[in-house]
Amino acid sequence: MHARNNICLVLIPIVCIALLAVGCTTNPATHKSQLVFSTEKEIAIGTEAAPEFEKQFGGEVANENLQAYVRSVGAKVSAKNVVEVEWPYEYTVLNSDIPNAFALPGGKIYITAGLMRAMTNERQLGGVLGHETGHVVARHSMDQIQQQMIAGGLASIVGYAIGGDVGAVAEMATKVATKMATLKYSRDDEFEADQLGIRYMARAGYNPWGMVELLQVLESLSGSKGGAFTEMMQTHPLTANRIADAEEIIRSGNEYKKYSADAPDQHAEKFMKMRALLPPPAAEE
Ligand SMILES: [Zn+2]
Repeated sequence: MHARNNICLVLIPIVCIALLAVGCTTNPATHKSQLVFSTEKEIAIGTEAAPEFEKQFGGEVANENLQAYVRSVGAKVSAKNVVEVEWPYEYTVLNSDIPNAFALPGGKIYITAGLMRAMTNERQLGGVLGHETGHVVARHSMDQIQQQMIAGGLASIVGYAIGGDVGAVAEMATKVATKMATLKYSRDDEFEADQLGIRYMARAGYNPWGMVELLQVLESLSGSKGGAFTEMMQTHPLTANRIADAEEIIRSGNEYKKYSADAPDQHAEKFMKMRALLPPPAAEE
């Protein structure tokens, strides 16, 4: 009797931990069923991957006023009453001239100096951060990474990471840090992230037409910045449809009816003041 009780005491927690580590859940934002890591594991992988990833893009821009400003815009689009899933969201500006934005698994979100220089108002920044927040909520990065690793014969790492091996989480984090820079989201993922981004910006009080403006900024960059810009296009493919799709989402949503594309952004001046705190691009130094 005693022995049996002891076995139960030992086994039940192990089985529970194993089941909690990975599971099939329905995402509350996208209503899609996903095979997911535990929240803790996904956060651990992102946290572990962050320093190496940041290094690839020049590290953090060393200006606390600017970082605090970007964090405040990020906090608006990821507030409790805005997003469907709470992650430990963090928003950081990286010192790279290549225009891009990234979302690591677990909630760490980055925008490069190069992308910020191309934007002209705060609602465009809200659009970028909302879009990346959408990727985190929909767990697109982890989906992509799992698929690529399984396709690349790295299923054992995923297996170990799911099982709880600490060394495997570290190994997985290294892979994530390298993969994230070249991760290519699918067209569907991009549409979903735009859709969620528009939702989050509007809930945060931003005019959702800022998302269309942002996409137009990206389109204009594609002509001028050649090679550097191609990297952004690889990560977040920009098609002509993406602009038309975003316009359609805003026009067809009742909650967006009150917004006009022509209304000026009242935070444009503040944004430009903060943008001026960025270091000059390397080529102009
Ligand atoms: Zn994207």
